[in-house]
Amino acid sequence: MAQRLLVVEDSKPIATVIKQIAQALQFEVTIAKSLAEVEEILATDNDFFVATIDYSLPDANDGEAIACVLSHGIPGVVLTGKMDDDTRQKILSQAVIDYIPKENTQAFLYLKRILQWQKTNHLNSILVVDDSSSARNHVVELLKRRNFTVFTANNGVQALERLAQHPEIKMVITDLEMPEMDGIQLTNEIRKKYNRENLSVIGISGASNGIHSARFIKNGADDFLRKPFCPEEFYCRITQNIESLNNIAQLQIAATTDYLTELLNRRAFFNEAQSRINGYSKRDISYGLAMIDIDHFKAVNDTYGHEAGDQALKVIALYLRKHFGSGLTARIGGEEFAVLLPGLDEDQLHGKLENFRRDIAVSMIPTGEYEISVSVSIGAIFNSRDLLPKQLNDADNALYRAKENGRNQLCVHGYEEEE
Ligand code: GH3
Ligand code: MG
Ligand code: MG
Ligand code: MG
Repeated sequence: MAQRLLVVEDSKPIATVIKQIAQALQFEVTIAKSLAEVEEILATDNDFFVATIDYSLPDANDGEAIACVLSHGIPGVVLTGKMDDDTRQKILSQAVIDYIPKENTQAFLYLKRILQWQKTNHLNSILVVDDSSSARNHVVELLKRRNFTVFTANNGVQALERLAQHPEIKMVITDLEMPEMDGIQLTNEIRKKYNRENLSVIGISGASNGIHSARFIKNGADDFLRKPFCPEEFYCRITQNIESLNNIAQLQIAATTDYLTELLNRRAFFNEAQSRINGYSKRDISYGLAMIDIDHFKAVNDTYGHEAGDQALKVIALYLRKHFGSGLTARIGGEEFAVLLPGLDEDQLHGKLENFRRDIAVSMIPTGEYEISVSVSIGAIFNSRDLLPKQLNDADNALYRAKENGRNQLCVHGYEEEE
């Protein structure tokens, strides 16, 4: 079901712009042009995900609509033409997500970002560490307004426990002075285990000199806030740090993913396969490794065109996911794939690879204009204790044999004559 946005706005052009922005973000939009209309709508229907609230309306020119919307438990963003200090204080004394001065088009870009964050912030988990419950609750409340997923701890020791229990936590916001383990010690401990690419630390302290910010940063914190801070400053630091973490995560995904098939790429496969194989060896889990190469793929390109070839590679990748979803699958070269499959005995491995080979051989692959028939050759190795490069080499030799023997077949290393 689409999330719903209530737009409280008396100017028709502005309401239209907000509506367009919101619809682009898949919101279902309801518009109210006055406080009276807001009250009428909310009397029977208050199931809104978020609201944008114009500060001055014909029948409520001093922000009265804000309290009305918030009292129904609907989080609100205020848009205002007035930017004097009094107005700002009046707005910020209420639990609004943010306020946006309607100065220029920048305002609408900012609104779009706010609405986007509001939809996705629950995916970002933040741990708040403070021994003072009132200080902790204040930060928690600010974060919840922005829909973040929030965890709490009373001191550094508890914070480390929470982090161990919840590996999804992306950010720690920590007070400085706390019993048992203070914020600086905590930051230090965190950095022994969690790097800055995966976990961001923001220190908070009430001390008025700059020395604590320097100590926090030098012990591995990413940022620092001095109490008392204003909500704008708080949200700005939090969002910048979260966005930077999310950007790094996206770069990491891009660096390990093959752009065409979205399987792992060669380098990522080698790294991940090595570490998984180490784990299997330790726990005595048997596994198989297979190299898969499409037969006469050059002819596919020559006959049907490169586009069709690309499409065929994508479809083969889907078959790989379907057959080997629980294993590790990768595109390690142009039309070459690799699979690591744990927890099977040799017969099961053979059966699974054969099923895949047969499925490909009998399927017609749609590529838009044509339906293409292709086959694959497979070289596999079972439960080797050799180093990974040697295993891949052995699997490759088995693959070469499958090609030599006529293609569209599976050869397992160590068996001179297969099938
Ligand atoms: P064999 O059965 O011996 O494997 O024959 P083959 O034609 O599949 O092998 P060869 O290594 O001679 O050719 C591989 C072909 O794969 C050549 C290349 O154009 C094609 N290829 C590699 N990467 C891509 C790609 O990303 N897209 C498309 N469409 N074709 C690709
Ligand atoms: Mg304290
Ligand atoms: Mg090849
Ligand atoms: Mg080939």
